[in-house]
Amino acid sequence: MPTLQHNASADNLIISKHRLSGSDVSFTPSPNTSGPFKDSFPDTIVIHFTAGSSLSSSVNVMTNPNNKVSAHLAVGRQGEIVQMLPFNKIGWHAGKSSWQGRTSLNQYSLGIELDNAGELTPNGEGFYTSWFGGVYESSDVFKGTHRNQTAPRYWHRYTEAQIMRTFSLCQLLCRQYGITCIVGHEEIAPDRKVDPGPAFPLDKLRSRMLGDAEPSHVDVAESNTQINTFDVPQPAVVRASKLNVRSGPGTHYEKQGLPLLAGDKVEIIDVKKGWAKVERTTTGWVSEQYLATVKAE
Ligand SMILES: [Zn+2]
Repeated sequence: MPTLQHNASADNLIISKHRLSGSDVSFTPSPNTSGPFKDSFPDTIVIHFTAGSSLSSSVNVMTNPNNKVSAHLAVGRQGEIVQMLPFNKIGWHAGKSSWQGRTSLNQYSLGIELDNAGELTPNGEGFYTSWFGGVYESSDVFKGTHRNQTAPRYWHRYTEAQIMRTFSLCQLLCRQYGITCIVGHEEIAPDRKVDPGPAFPLDKLRSRMLGDAEPSHVDVAESNTQINTFDVPQPAVVRASKLNVRSGPGTHYEKQGLPLLAGDKVEIIDVKKGWAKVERTTTGWVSEQYLATVKAE
């Protein structure tokens, strides 16, 4: 597996007067700011994905005054960087958020957006589609379980160049601004956000930048191919005397076929809002509380 070095100085990235410069770095100013940071801030970095179709389309969105969104930086799939706000100005990327006793993280943090389509859906023909209709080959897809979810889903992969550049950027920002905290949007707004998702090695970034136990490299191939144990269906036994199977995760979905009975063995293949998608002879959704999981043999 390739081991890639990341190093801000080797990358020639520098910050001067809160502006980044280096190769493949450009500045497209955004009017979407609430002004200068207070006191000693920023001390935090928030990592995002754009859920967009291209770097330029996402930069257009974040620099349009009508949209009321922005971030300090966007990183493209070739590792190119667009800065939109100087690092001493507050951006609008975190929204309603909280982390370790603080709320509204915008006032403490720099936002980095990575060009990535986000969650993908298999189209049944070997390809995967994004919410905006983009079509992706399986080689562009990462299957993994999100830290806020219990079953694997499909996610647009980040490129190695993009991950390496993000590591270099964070290293530089940590050094320059005394950053003490790196979080994903999914961690500070877990009820509404899933970015950057499991395809991004967020924990590795965090321990590499803020901890001291990690070696001075990140193995992208390893972090991209890791499959969660939930990838395997989870065996379970029905605990209720009679358990309705429904077409979706809720009592308002139609019942499907005969109910399951106490002791019936099923396999959980997905979990959503207290409902488990189970497989027996037919597939459907049941209330999760009436299942007991059993150890696989
Ligand atoms: Zn976000």
